[in-house]
Amino acid sequence: MSLSNTAPRVPGRHFLQIPGPSPIPDRILHAMSKPIIDHRGPEFQALGYRALNGIKTIFQTEGSVIIYPSSGSGAWEASLANTLSPGDRVLMYETGHFASLWKAMAEKLGVQAEFIASDWRSGADPDLIEQRLREDKGHEIKAVCVVHNETSTGAMSPIQKVRKAIDAAGHPALLMVDAVSSLGSAEYRHDEWGADVTVSGSQKGLMMPPGIAFNAISAKALAASKVSKLPKVFWGWDEMLAANARGYFPTTPATNTLYALVEAVDMLHEEGLDRVFARHIRHGEATRRAVRAWGLEIQCRQEENHSPVLTAVMMPNGGADAFRSVALKHFDISLGSGLSKVADKLFRIGHLGDINDLTLLGALSGVEMSLGLAGVPHKTGGVQAAMTYLAQTAKPSS
Ligand SMILES: *Cc1c(COP(=O)(O)O)cnc(C)c1O
Repeated sequence: MSLSNTAPRVPGRHFLQIPGPSPIPDRILHAMSKPIIDHRGPEFQALGYRALNGIKTIFQTEGSVIIYPSSGSGAWEASLANTLSPGDRVLMYETGHFASLWKAMAEKLGVQAEFIASDWRSGADPDLIEQRLREDKGHEIKAVCVVHNETSTGAMSPIQKVRKAIDAAGHPALLMVDAVSSLGSAEYRHDEWGADVTVSGSQKGLMMPPGIAFNAISAKALAASKVSKLPKVFWGWDEMLAANARGYFPTTPATNTLYALVEAVDMLHEEGLDRVFARHIRHGEATRRAVRAWGLEIQCRQEENHSPVLTAVMMPNGGADAFRSVALKHFDISLGSGLSKVADKLFRIGHLGDINDLTLLGALSGVEMSLGLAGVPHKTGGVQAAMTYLAQTAKPSS
């Protein structure tokens, strides 16, 4: 019992509709609730193998996936530190806030990062990447870095087309992809799409608590790591891979989060990855129908690049944060804020992870009621538009 019991109990479950962390299913919480074991003992090995092999099936790779006890940013740093050398050039694409953070990190590490500038309202344009690589006759650019799902704007980038653009330019640069908020929610195929390093984290599409993050690595990335000269100790792939080969980790792993990972991988396969991806696409469409019915504008202005993970909604006259606080106070729903350049100008509805039709409708109802209470100019009928679409496309679950 709380001693500073000032606020009354809030009944029901909190609607955590931010684009990560996403709500954690009870099954995953229960799976983690185990006594800690010796991470160098015999019992750990089976867990280590299951976690390391399981996550490969989600990245859809036959290659190695490194698991760090860190947030996604740690895995960003690892992707750069293991493949590049001081002064190397990398080409990045300004899809939004997360792409900007990754670029700032590269610069701090001593890499010369170059942006293809954009307006934070679209995904990466493969033609512009191809054009820039064709100009780079001396092959000074060592890597192309793209954020698959730009969580700050709700725009997806076409990774397969980026791969084709790099190949069409005959350029040897590595392809590094940030799939932190897409893995487990949107289709992603590390091997088939020809990614060299894919970065991800536990707390978004994988429905897990924050705390572990990943680097999926290709043979070409592994070869680059043998000659890379950026300093790394904790983040080094070599010691990790050596220990992982026996099911162990060089330093203390996030053991209980690995139990969660094994459970999350099982849950994704029990539903079926194709069904998981289709569910997210359908919920993205339902959400956009609601936003359009409200008469509000969607931040991503490209029909083909809308994210199935989240929808960023532009506020007609700013004040997105005041609106979000009305929603939280009245309906116990957390919506995502606008980040850096778009702070207070937009809010984000997360529709990723362990979500079904009625969860989504509850969230959209919270948004629609809050638009009214906060005095945001809009039309009613968004929830109705979403219901109509969901009912038209509903299938029995068994
Ligand atoms: C959440 C996120 C990150 C950063 O992850 P942290 O876990 O906060 O370090 C990086 N990229 C994208 C696209 C994200 O959504």
